[in-house]
Amino acid sequence: MKKFSWIDRWRVPTYDNPNHMKTADLFFNAAKCTQCGICVKVCPGGCIVTDKVTKKDLMKDMRKAVKSGVPHVDVLKTGATLCIACFDCGAACPHGAISIKRNFDPKYYYKRLTQTSDMVLPKKY
Ligand code: SF4
Ligand code: SF4
Repeated sequence: MKKFSWIDRWRVPTYDNPNHMKTADLFFNAAKCTQCGICVKVCPGGCIVTDKVTKKDLMKDMRKAVKSGVPHVDVLKTGATLCIACFDCGAACPHGAISIKRNFDPKYYYKRLTQTSDMVLPKKY
């Protein structure tokens, strides 16, 4: 297991600085995606967009949920995304169209607790 210095433990990474934090990115399989817009709506970070609609659009007008465009994760000016790889979108997608392209790594002493590099559906209880 990697050893952390006291500076690593004390340092708080800046979220949108790619040198501090590797944020996640996803692959949306256009052949499987029916453009239903569910993933755009469920993303807690509001970071999934399409060329046709934003999450705000879908929340305002449900009719736009039909053929809303193949989604992608929005990339900030810094190159970071707001995706934390929780995979809520993947769990909600009815067609298994979403997979991981780049995983989330907060670096320093801050580690994700449960998600592995292979994104899996949430555990059933
Ligand atoms: S993995 Fe989570 S944060 Fe990332 S796009 Fe999907 S729902 Fe949003
Ligand atoms: S939930 Fe799945 S099928 Fe629906 S828009 Fe998102 S990726 Fe496409």
